[in-house]
Amino acid sequence: KITLFWFRRDLRLEDNTGLQRALQEEKNVLPLFIFDRNILERLEEKADARVEFIHAQLTEIKAQLEKKGSSLLVRYGTPEEIFSKLSTEFSISAVYTNRDYEPYAKERDEKIEALLEEKKVRFLSFKDQLIFEPGEILNGSGEFYKVFTPFSKAWLSKFNQTDIQNPGQPNWKNLKGLTPFPMISLGEMGFEKTSICIPPKITDEDLIRHYDQNRDFPAKNGTSRLGIHLRFGTISIRKLAGIAAKLNDVFLKELIWREFYMMILAFNPQVVDRAFKPEYDRIPWRQDLGDFHAWCAGKTGFPIVDAGMRELNETGYMHNRVRMITASFLTKLLLIDWRWGEAYFAKQLLDFDLSANNGSWQWAAGTGTDSQPYFRIFNPESQTSKFDPDLEYIKHWIPELETKKYPKPIVAYKFARQRALETYKIALEK
Ligand code: FAD
Repeated sequence: KITLFWFRRDLRLEDNTGLQRALQEEKNVLPLFIFDRNILERLEEKADARVEFIHAQLTEIKAQLEKKGSSLLVRYGTPEEIFSKLSTEFSISAVYTNRDYEPYAKERDEKIEALLEEKKVRFLSFKDQLIFEPGEILNGSGEFYKVFTPFSKAWLSKFNQTDIQNPGQPNWKNLKGLTPFPMISLGEMGFEKTSICIPPKITDEDLIRHYDQNRDFPAKNGTSRLGIHLRFGTISIRKLAGIAAKLNDVFLKELIWREFYMMILAFNPQVVDRAFKPEYDRIPWRQDLGDFHAWCAGKTGFPIVDAGMRELNETGYMHNRVRMITASFLTKLLLIDWRWGEAYFAKQLLDFDLSANNGSWQWAAGTGTDSQPYFRIFNPESQTSKFDPDLEYIKHWIPELETKKYPKPIVAYKFARQRALETYKIALEK
């Protein structure tokens, strides 16, 4: 009899709750990863740095497991197909895994649990991706928080009473002894290598210590760039939150935003394609493909917006301050549907995460959990003088800034601002 440990967005061997528990409670533990065809087939671009990143992490994990005399089973297909097949290949007593809170993942897990139950296989899932999962932080009436600040206060007070210590070395001798399995290649799944660099998994304590002073300036190296590592669990949230709590409260607050948006999505799966505040779905968005494509390409004639979009297109990353400016520009000044912007970011961002992306886009469009009224509209010029006063970031991404090659603004700021205010007002008065 074997026990499977199913890796998903927790691609690490250390401080991994589900893996630790499987190795503590079971014998003959066989680690598994499924390249989910349902997810991969939705990706338009076959050179996708995120798929390449997952593949590289798995190759590394597999090598480490092989040093311990075991291996990693990597399969390609739909999880239902794979589990049905595995149950004919092995005699499985249990499947251990860490919980995932996205709508697709929850539905997938329910199906797999039911499929395994029929075969008398136990399915055990654990909290690992978050310090507090959806439902653990509720208001006095037992409901989820709709606003960030009271959520973060409740989160912090619970955090101060919680032990987030790493449980120590897993009981590796309970891994199943194996000769190495073969590893599927990117090419066999129809994917290619890219030339995108992945930010390294470094928790730079000095950077985190000064995070609050530097994080808003896109020309500075002031943020951690750990987004992709948090997304795929190559770093433990408990480890990072522990460092944050020691070094910088503002950094810890960003990790709370991550949990806030995961909670919002878990309680409100409809936000995937609808406004969190339903009345905002009455806004008549402009279906202007020309303006949208100019925005995507970084050719709006608004330097801070264009610099951000070019950074995103070239590196798969965009600084948070500039994400807010570009998103506000698209939704307010161009009056283009936040869902278009959200989908474009989802395609381009290395750290793409459904909950953070959806929550942040809705925040920028005013349709989401923001407690501020919709008439906050970022002014690209004043944002530039505050956060990139020497145009260092802008000039880095737009070398032709001061030449004739650089486009004229596609819209006049004052006019666009007024148009947004009127359109929102009329739509919300109905
Ligand atoms: P740091 O500033 O070093 O923060 C550390 C970590 O905290 C981040 O890696 C991230 O996991 C978390 N975090 C920070 N800010 C936020 C936030 N506002 N909401 C949720 N988590 C946060 N973040 C994503 O992880 N995935 C996305 O798809 C995403 N899309 C966004 C879209 C828009 C329009 C906006 C305005 C923000 C978006 N963010 C997203 C939030 C934020 O911009 C990024 O998390 C951050 O810029 C990543 O860089 P970093 O790793 O250097 O973050």
